[in-house]
Amino acid sequence: STEIRLASRPTGWPTPENFETATVQLPDLAEGEVRVSNEYLSVDPYMRGRMNDAKSYAAPYALGEVMTGAAVGEVVESRAKGIALGDKVLHHLGWRSVSQGPAAAFRVVQEISGVPLSAYMGILGMTAYTAYVGLLEIARLKEGDIVFISGAAGAVGSAAGQIARLKGAARVIGSAGTDKKVALLKDKYGFDAAFNYKDAPVLEQLRAAAPEGIDVYFDNVGGDHLEAALSVFNRDGRAALCGSISSYNATEAPAGPRNMGNLITQGLSLKGYTVGFHPGLFPDFVKDMSAWLDSGEVVFEETVIEGLENAVHGFLELMRGANTGKMVIKL
Ligand code: NDP
Repeated sequence: STEIRLASRPTGWPTPENFETATVQLPDLAEGEVRVSNEYLSVDPYMRGRMNDAKSYAAPYALGEVMTGAAVGEVVESRAKGIALGDKVLHHLGWRSVSQGPAAAFRVVQEISGVPLSAYMGILGMTAYTAYVGLLEIARLKEGDIVFISGAAGAVGSAAGQIARLKGAARVIGSAGTDKKVALLKDKYGFDAAFNYKDAPVLEQLRAAAPEGIDVYFDNVGGDHLEAALSVFNRDGRAALCGSISSYNATEAPAGPRNMGNLITQGLSLKGYTVGFHPGLFPDFVKDMSAWLDSGEVVFEETVIEGLENAVHGFLELMRGANTGKMVIKL
């Protein structure tokens, strides 16, 4: 199997030198194990945090450790009951061409016609579920809410915008970093308004897009986006703090938000969360999302980069915003 490991820890933006590629000879399968030829690997922003030697919600990668994370593939050998040759499986063994281990590390998934297997890492998996939990459980979205979502054209954000609409939001506003993404938000994902945060200050553009204020903020970005949201919140506003990608590769402390006092005066609730601690809604999510995909009420995009040798490139491009929707590596 060919695998990609963390070679050194980055300061600021990672570079290809922080990774190393190795080929390993896999041992024969032990009883109860399966071997999987991977078809897609996931690259995710949280992996940047794991490259630091700092405790976060996910443990740091050890130096020399494979870049673990979500992957999907086909079972090519099985010595486990309940997992057969040819089964498609989801697992978290990360950036390698072939994965093997005890059956418990693999979840068999059903192939759905017209939906790529990679969807189990995106619209039917962790990123869309993160959107679902954030809106429904953390921000307690209610019918009639005006919702603002940053990072809106990414995997989590594009799911969040559509879920908010389908769960009764009165108006959904999104921000993203290119005009093409802004057009997609309005034309494909059904956002009522959208803006390019690189065009003008976020606050100015958010005020124009939300003249009646916002009730829910779904934060993927932090920094100036969170500061702007705090300024336009209506009374009893609620925010789900999902991520703050604007600071992941920063070497200096981010400025702001400087208006945290609005939490008090407006009675706001901002609640952070990591999806792994909120498994309870998963059955509801699968039911809702499968029906929405089936009816065409939810659509999704993926940005697919070919080749394990391009996994590092894909990961860096993800953080630069080259992706629309979920970024995946196709082997
Ligand atoms: P995305 O698909 O959204 O990809 C990342 C996007 O971030 C890029 O496409 C880019 O889009 C945007 N971006 C990069 N830098 C900046 C910046 N300085 N300001 C604004 N936007 C920026 O990734 P995911 O959907 O996987 O993740 C989205 C967020 O959700 C991340 O913050 C992630 O850490 C978080 N997350 C949290 C989880 C949790 O449990 N709390 C679980 C999963 C994800 P653009 O062109 O628009 O700039």
